[in-house]
Amino acid sequence: TQPLLQVKDLRVEFKTRRGNALVLNGVDFEIHGGETLCVVGESGCGKSMTALALLRLIPSPPGRISSGSILFGGEDLVTVSLERMREVRGNRISMIFQEPMTSLNPVLTVGDQIGESLRLHAGLDAGAARARAIEMLQQVGIPAPERRVDEYPHQLSGGMRQRVMIAMALACRPDILIADEPTTALDVTVQAQIFDLLRDLQRDKGTAILLITHDMGAVAEMADRVMVMYAGRVIEQGTTAEVLGNPGHPYTHGLIACLPELGSSAFAAADNDRIELAEIDGMVPSIWELGSGCAFRERCPYAKPRCAEEVPPMFAMEDGATHGAACWLHAQQEEVAA
Ligand code: SF4
Ligand code: MG
Repeated sequence: TQPLLQVKDLRVEFKTRRGNALVLNGVDFEIHGGETLCVVGESGCGKSMTALALLRLIPSPPGRISSGSILFGGEDLVTVSLERMREVRGNRISMIFQEPMTSLNPVLTVGDQIGESLRLHAGLDAGAARARAIEMLQQVGIPAPERRVDEYPHQLSGGMRQRVMIAMALACRPDILIADEPTTALDVTVQAQIFDLLRDLQRDKGTAILLITHDMGAVAEMADRVMVMYAGRVIEQGTTAEVLGNPGHPYTHGLIACLPELGSSAFAAADNDRIELAEIDGMVPSIWELGSGCAFRERCPYAKPRCAEEVPPMFAMEDGATHGAACWLHAQQEEVAA
């Protein structure tokens, strides 16, 4: 089947005093209707940048999409007008963020905020928008929606604010919901409730979800497919079973090793201590040190001379046509055509 959205060779660069930094460096992936695709990797790997690029929200200047395409519904979102992009955003593709307090407007009621996109995109009048806002609050599990609809964000708990964000994002029935670390600011119980909610809403509405996370537990629970990013590239992708069950890239293996019950023995012989997964502090410094070759080589227990010379292409893994890893360990396999 045709993918709902197809990203090809996407590059994003930021102008800095030291020159241009490539923060997305040839990203390729697809989102299919109704699926959950998880994007994983450490802070600074390009996950959020990928989401912002899909919505044309890269801060510009200093950033810009320097090449590639984002095909969606017969259009290339890289080249459509900003006016057209505003129609797509919030309507066909919407987004929820990590900390709802910074994305909700403190001086507007919950109902006005949910209603805003309905008035804008669906042309509802104020009364109809309010009625639909109450319905949405009910769908996201907010008790007493008739009362809550007139409250302000500060009157709600963190978990309820995230539910309001989800209600806003889904009000126009988008094809794709992008969720960037949607539960990071919430406690564990509320996190689980929000994931349950997203799964239920996805089942009811058939919305595809692009879930950005650094939490492999969330991946195991939510994802149909996974793409792993490192230093602005996709370094592994496949179904959740393929990637978690048989990780092909040493970096993915390191991420999974943080989840004891999913630890794979395939890499047991390696010196795992060298795969340290402390968050990289910002992306730009690591970008400058990349040079040629595999960006993971300084942390990789398997690095060979070739790894310093050539960037590894995506090789097909043996276990499935959908599973690929960009690592020279798999050089005997076919390359995956981009
Ligand atoms: Fe390690 Fe080389 Fe594979 Fe990079 S290409 S992950 S350095 S083995
Ligand atoms: Mg981020």
